[in-house]
Amino acid sequence: MNVADSNRLARALENLNILPANDPDEAGLIVLNTCVVRQSAEDRAIGRLNSLLPLKKANPDLIIGLMGCLVGIKGNAALEKRFPWVDVFAAPSDPEPFLRLLGERQDQLNAEAWRRSADEVLDAEFGVTTDAQHTISENLPIVLGCSHACAYCVIPNRRGKERSRESRKILSEASVMVEHGAKELVLLGQIVDRYGLDLPGEMRLPQLLRELSKIEGLERIRFLTSHPNWMTDELIDAVAQTPKVMPHIEVPVQAGDDEVLRAMRRGYSNQQYRDLVERIRGRIPGVSIGTDIIVGFPGESEAAFENTYQLLKDLRIDVAHLARYSPRPSTYSMKFLPDDVSEEEKMRRFRALEDLQKVVVGEINQKFLGQLQPVLFENSFRGKWRGRTPTNRLVFVESDENLYGQTRDVKITWTGPWSLQGELA
Ligand code: SF4
Repeated sequence: MNVADSNRLARALENLNILPANDPDEAGLIVLNTCVVRQSAEDRAIGRLNSLLPLKKANPDLIIGLMGCLVGIKGNAALEKRFPWVDVFAAPSDPEPFLRLLGERQDQLNAEAWRRSADEVLDAEFGVTTDAQHTISENLPIVLGCSHACAYCVIPNRRGKERSRESRKILSEASVMVEHGAKELVLLGQIVDRYGLDLPGEMRLPQLLRELSKIEGLERIRFLTSHPNWMTDELIDAVAQTPKVMPHIEVPVQAGDDEVLRAMRRGYSNQQYRDLVERIRGRIPGVSIGTDIIVGFPGESEAAFENTYQLLKDLRIDVAHLARYSPRPSTYSMKFLPDDVSEEEKMRRFRALEDLQKVVVGEINQKFLGQLQPVLFENSFRGKWRGRTPTNRLVFVESDENLYGQTRDVKITWTGPWSLQGELA
């Protein structure tokens, strides 16, 4: 979501002829987009912000902007006091404060023209009016904010309540992105499966997927993140029946212990998650499943952690994003549940799951050895072309051909837990 927000602001600025600098020393405007999902992300954001102070001192005309979840939606008086060298603050997904400040700095003659262009850019929402080339895989937010309020999560507080975007706008932005080079769209929402529920008369995600798949030139559609309670059979079937929708589902479990799940306020049990995975695998042939897990949530005993370990071992999930619990301001768990698992123990549990996944995913990936996989190439990395299979596995290929944006069959010649290598078939 932050990448999508950054791109939106960058495109809005490019539309107004404000172009990227090569180096922070040369920039007239520096924007830091921030994540506070864990304390370490927040510390890193603050460290970067502090490192910009010498640049501001050397060049008082430099505009420094702070956006994203560090700012949030609830005002920034405390931040203004703490970081007086920041000129402008913007909530997540909201480039308007930057455009307004830059407009104020235009001379009288240009101010009106600027205001008109800025209004046009804001109307275009995710900045797709630009003629700039889009990347092969584009993020397209369809639901902003979240109203679920899991006990540990700061996102509802920082990104506001759930708001679906109109399908009319999403479809028109998607078409423009594809016209300008995108081959794959990744639809984003904190609970993406809830798309449309808050807009009476609006289509739901299964229909949106079908409508998007009619766009000529669009090859692949993905969506994330799902929530186990909102992943309906209708949605699973839409994935199975719409060839452009890739067979990869990101559906976080967060914990495999019922007590912990209850304390997290997730709204489902270990068994319900197992049943869901079975349903998804039964209905979408060859699907891959991704999950998120937090270890060391308050009250997570050794036995509770073992339940999570066992769930991951039994389900043989294709990709697990692991995190150690970190209390976030104004969340239910920070206020009411003591952070009672030591950092050493959190790390031990994290490593145990990491080691398990390494073995499991290594074994899963081995079955691709010698197979042909259609790979959409997105970029090159250290002299090799880098792309993804339909199930979202990273593949590296050495080739003198320009593979950028091409989907090619690749024969897999090497597999590891985190990537595959191959040669063009
Ligand atoms: S559903 Fe996701 S974004 Fe919403 S509160 Fe829970 S973890 Fe946070």
